[in-house]
Amino acid sequence: MTTSAVLVKYGEIALRGGNRRIHENILLEGIKKRLAGLDASVRKDQGRFFVELGKDADARAAASEIAGIFGIASCCPCIKTENNDFEHIKKLALEHMRERYPRGGTFKVEASRADKSYPLNSQRLSADLGAFLLENIPDLKVRMKNPDIRLTVEIRSSTYIYSETMKGPGGLPSGSGGKAVLLLSGGFDSPVAGYMMARRGVKLVCVYFHSPPYTSERAKEKAVDLAKRLSAYTGGVRLYIAPFTDLQLYLNERSPEVKLTIFLKRAMLKAANQLAAREKAQALITGDSVGQVASQTMHALTAVDSAADYPVLRPLCAMDKLDIINLAEKIGTHDISARPFADCCTLFVPKHPETKPKRSIIENMESRFEKLDALVAACADNAEVMDL
Ligand code: ATP
Ligand code: MG
Repeated sequence: MTTSAVLVKYGEIALRGGNRRIHENILLEGIKKRLAGLDASVRKDQGRFFVELGKDADARAAASEIAGIFGIASCCPCIKTENNDFEHIKKLALEHMRERYPRGGTFKVEASRADKSYPLNSQRLSADLGAFLLENIPDLKVRMKNPDIRLTVEIRSSTYIYSETMKGPGGLPSGSGGKAVLLLSGGFDSPVAGYMMARRGVKLVCVYFHSPPYTSERAKEKAVDLAKRLSAYTGGVRLYIAPFTDLQLYLNERSPEVKLTIFLKRAMLKAANQLAAREKAQALITGDSVGQVASQTMHALTAVDSAADYPVLRPLCAMDKLDIINLAEKIGTHDISARPFADCCTLFVPKHPETKPKRSIIENMESRFEKLDALVAACADNAEVMDL
C-alpha cells in the first residue's frame, strides 16, 4: 500500500543529554496537537519523527503545519510504501519526479537501506535508480554538487521517498525552557520579544493592560490577535486582559507629568508579578529596546526594574527598530501591530519625559501612593483570562 508521511528532523534538542526524552515528548505532543483532526500517528525513530498519514491526507500541507513549530529543524513530505521491492520503488520514484518536476532539472539520488540484507547496497541503489530516471525523463541531468532536485529514498521496514525539505523555525519546544509573563501591548515590539523568548522554549503567558474607555475594544482585539499569532508557534498561549484604567487615572493624578511613564511601567510590572506568581512563572518579558524612547534609556530601565519581583527579560534590548520590524513581518505580527488603535501607553504621555529618572527618588515618591498596592491587586485579580 502506498500512503504519505512526513519525516521530521529536530534541531538543538538532539544535543541535550538528560532532558532529551522530556523535550522530545513535548515536541511530539505539539505535533499531535497541530495535526489534531487529521488521520495521523507519530512515532520516534533514531532521533527523528515519522508522521504516518491516512490515505487521503496531504503530506505537503501536514509538513508545512509541522514546520511552524518551535524545535523543528526541517520536515520532508514523503511517499511511503510497505512494498520494498526495488522495481516498485523505481516506479513510485518515477511517478513522483514526473509529477513534481515536469520541467526536469539537475538531480541527484541519495538512496540508503537500513536492512543490510537488502539485495542492493546504497551505492548501487542510487546509481541504478538514477540511471532509470534518466532513461525515462529526458529533461533530467545528473549533478552531484548542488543539484536542483535531491531525491532521497530510505528503505527501512517500509520505504520513504522524498525530494523536498521545508525548513522549520529551529529553537526549542515550548515549555522546555520554563514559563514567563509577556507584557503584550498592541505595538510592534512586545510580540516580537515574545516570539524570541518562545523560540528558546519559554512558555508564554501574556498580559495586556486595557484602559477603557480611553483605549478601544479594537485595541484589545489587536492584543488578542497578536496572542493568537504567537500561539500558532507554541501550540497555546494564555492571555490576561487586565483592567488598567483605575491605576492609570490614579497615577496620572499623583505623579509629576515627567515621571508618569515610569510609574505606569512600574505598575504594569507589579501587576505582572502577581500574575507570574499565580502562573508559577519564572520571569517577565517586555519589548523594551535600549534608547528607543525616553522611557527606555538605561536610567529609565533601572528605575522601572526594581518594581519587578522576577528577572525582566528584554530580548530586543540590543536590536535596531528596523530589524524588529523586519522580524515582525517575518513572523506575521506586523500587520496586526500596524492597525491604528493605540494602547494605554500613548495616553496622558508627557511631552518631555525624564530621560534620567533616579531610582531612589522614584521609589521614594511611589511609597507615598497609598492606594497603589490595592489598585495593582485589583488589576491582577479582575483580569479576564483567555486561552488561545
Ligand atoms: P511596543 O511596541 O511593544 O508597544 P513600545 O516601543 O511602544 O513597545 P513602550 O510603550 O515604552 O514601548 O512599552 C514598553 C513595553 O512595555 C512594551 O514592549 C510592553 O512589553 C510593555 N507595555 C506597554 N504597554 C503595554 C500594555 N498596554 N499592555 C501590556 N504591556 C505593555
Ligand atoms: Mg507601545
